[in-house]
Amino acid sequence: MATIDGLPPLREVIRAHDLVAKKQLGQNFLLDLNLTSKIARSAGDLSGSDVLEVGPGPGGLTRGLLAEGARRVVAVEKDPRALPALQEIAEAYPGRLSVLQGDALELDMAAHLTPPVKIVSNLPYNVGTELLIRWLSPTIWPPFWQSLTLMFQKEVAERIIAKPGSDHYGRLALLVHWRADARIVMSLPPEAFTPAPKVHSAVVHLTRLEEPRFPADGKVLNRVTTMAFGQRRKMLRSSLKGLGPDIEARLEAVGIAPTARAEEIGLEQFCALARNLAEAP
Ligand code: SAM
Repeated sequence: MATIDGLPPLREVIRAHDLVAKKQLGQNFLLDLNLTSKIARSAGDLSGSDVLEVGPGPGGLTRGLLAEGARRVVAVEKDPRALPALQEIAEAYPGRLSVLQGDALELDMAAHLTPPVKIVSNLPYNVGTELLIRWLSPTIWPPFWQSLTLMFQKEVAERIIAKPGSDHYGRLALLVHWRADARIVMSLPPEAFTPAPKVHSAVVHLTRLEEPRFPADGKVLNRVTTMAFGQRRKMLRSSLKGLGPDIEARLEAVGIAPTARAEEIGLEQFCALARNLAEAP
């Protein structure tokens, strides 16, 4: 069967290199190159960008990114078994694919990229949220990337885009909304993957803001939201009492009812509280 790039179909690649999926590495592969090209397109124009892909596996999304015109792809894969298959793709796209073997949680990936950078990945579920939080929490903002186009379990995708008042709303939604615009661009059923996971998946596209949406010190904001959502059903005057004896007055000063609960409060109010706490400790 003809493919988008003249390379063998992914089922053949997996057979030839004996890439039996390993659960502990979160290996659920996308084998439909039309689908991986569609994911690549959802990241926008790639022609002027370096693309960072975490977890290329047998290379379905990698091939989609290259076929859709990425200037260069830097792919970070933990499983050494995938390297020969990725080498074949590198040979078909001379000078456009660099593969780093290692753990994405340990490598300094930014050092291998030239701006502008877009991150596009079908992430291993066990490290996906951790990577997203790290990409949103560098010490200096704006970060090394322009946009993130990432596959998550549907439930995590809903937590990323959640609004106040919803069951999914919490610290992750607040961090994302503080520093990026985020939306779900695609939903995928389990059968889209081989092997099929138990859960549905969704692709989320995040575009960085050049400055955080509202001023606040990231560490103070993180402390406030961690305490507030640590006891999300409690009133804020109770869940935040560890922040000081005057917490009720501070809440009132920034227009938050001390009897309100964390899930009712929006980002702007949390940032106002973080500023109040930082300005007059
Ligand atoms: N991109 C491929 C696709 O769409 O078919 C594979 C996606 S699969 C969900 C996740 C990939 O991430 C696997 O290839 C797995 O080996 C790799 N992986 C798992 N943990 C990793 C880590 N800590 N660093 C880098 N790659 C990792």
